[in-house]
Amino acid sequence: MESATRERFAERLIDAIGADAVLTAPEDLAVYSFDAYSEERLPSAAVLPKDARDVSAIVRIANECGEPIVPRGAGTGLCGGAAPVRGGVVVSFARMNRILSLDAANRRARVQPGLINLDLSKAALPHGLFFGPDPSSQKISTLGGNTGTNAGGPHALSYGSMTNHVLGLEYVDGSGEILHTALDDFGYDLTGSLVGSEGTLGIITAIDLRLMRLPPAIRVFLAAFADVETASAAVSAIVAAGIVPTALEIMDKLIVQAVEAHYHAGFPLDAGAVLLVEIAGQPDDMQAGERAIGEIARAHGALSWRSATDADERDALWAARKGAAGALGRIAPNYYIQDATVPRTRLPQAVHRIDEIARAYKLLVGNVFHAGDGNLHPLLIFDRRERRQVEAVIAAGTEILTACIALGGTISGEHGIGYEKRETLPLVFSSDDLATMGRVRDVFDPKRLFNPDKIFPSGAVCGEVRAQPQPAAGAGAWL
Ligand SMILES: Cc1cc2nc3c(=O)[nH]c(=O)nc-3n(C[C@H](O)[C@H](O)[C@H](O)COP(=O)(O)OP(=O)(O)OC[C@H]3O[C@@H](n4cnc5c(N)ncnc54)[C@H](O)[C@@H]3O)c2cc1C
Repeated sequence: MESATRERFAERLIDAIGADAVLTAPEDLAVYSFDAYSEERLPSAAVLPKDARDVSAIVRIANECGEPIVPRGAGTGLCGGAAPVRGGVVVSFARMNRILSLDAANRRARVQPGLINLDLSKAALPHGLFFGPDPSSQKISTLGGNTGTNAGGPHALSYGSMTNHVLGLEYVDGSGEILHTALDDFGYDLTGSLVGSEGTLGIITAIDLRLMRLPPAIRVFLAAFADVETASAAVSAIVAAGIVPTALEIMDKLIVQAVEAHYHAGFPLDAGAVLLVEIAGQPDDMQAGERAIGEIARAHGALSWRSATDADERDALWAARKGAAGALGRIAPNYYIQDATVPRTRLPQAVHRIDEIARAYKLLVGNVFHAGDGNLHPLLIFDRRERRQVEAVIAAGTEILTACIALGGTISGEHGIGYEKRETLPLVFSSDDLATMGRVRDVFDPKRLFNPDKIFPSGAVCGEVRAQPQPAAGAGAWL
């Protein structure tokens, strides 16, 4: 965008929403130029709306100027979803971070999109309620971003992901109109269409969410195994026995060592893999639950078994698990976290294959994953200053996705597609599938100014979609 046009664009934004809500200085814009996946380019402006009317005005102005519009929560997304890869205006929800209502009797809340995920559970706690989806980033990621990516988390195994908890939305469409959806409306499930749309269908300005009752009893156990394959087989056996714990998480030796060095939560350092199990329900059922799961784990090679004795110990184990990616900073200058799924029973093969791929590319890999969902998160460790390592990581990442598809899985479990995986989308969708998705998009945003270059492969304009996948695009930087 030419500088005179950019200035005019900024002036119009300032006239509409106020000077204190529009940032244009390069040093301010730098903060909005990347997310947790990529480092891309400066937007023309970043705006901080206070309500839906501001968002509507921003969309109308951007529309008239032909400027891309990129919604942004906390920027913790791991696929470049909030990065302004084609410039434009970044819409930050940092000032729209309130709980608008909390209806404990009907177990629902209406929130603004910038509310931090964990803040909702904190507010619901005095009512004996909590919010189910708990991405490991829940201390910082926003409910708008969580809705945009259809976020999951360790407890998605039993509570589901965002789509199972969003009851309705207020959003602004491509023309700037403020619209509402509700799950209990008749007709098409527009709420479901917007959840996971990664900012490409509309800008979400309020979210109606389901709250859940806190379980009367929770127990957390830790089992040590010789390797990830055996731990994965135990996970399959637990679920096959008809038991559905609230969470089943695996960490391999590399991750356990990094986490333990940082959190001192008491993870066994000599284990090849650790399985974290949580069950919830009535207090009387806890003992039988632990016995049943413990027996299966032992029958599948568990080397040791430990129960968290109180809530503090339980919280410490979860804090360590959720902080696993951060703890890797101790051993890695950079890491690239992949996100793919396989049927739970194929986890041992998938983990074995990931190991083979990492070896072939001479890369160190750590595994920490939502085993109960078959949702893998291999972390490929590298140094981004080494060009060859960057190339190896990109190639290995694509091979891992291909391997997971071959095992009956898919290319994302919870992080979304964004910019990172858009070129791999044709691995799982045909040209016709993508053209149909493109037509849906055109209904919401005919000019395709909402988050361009996300989800759809390059060339997928006006329903025209390349059939052949290309290697994943290289991003500027990873975590
Ligand atoms: C350490 C770490 C752990 C993580 N663990 C998990 C995990 O367990 N599970 C999981 O699912 N993810 C996880 N993530 C990924 C990330 O936290 C999630 O994708 C999260 O939902 C992103 O929220 P955010 O507020 O940071 O959104 P952003 O990254 O800012 O945006 C994410 C996407 O949503 C869109 N968006 C944001 N706000 C709106 C809005 N108001 N309207 C429309 N679209 C919008 C953006 O355009 C973008 O496409 C993790 C990330 C990190 C760094």
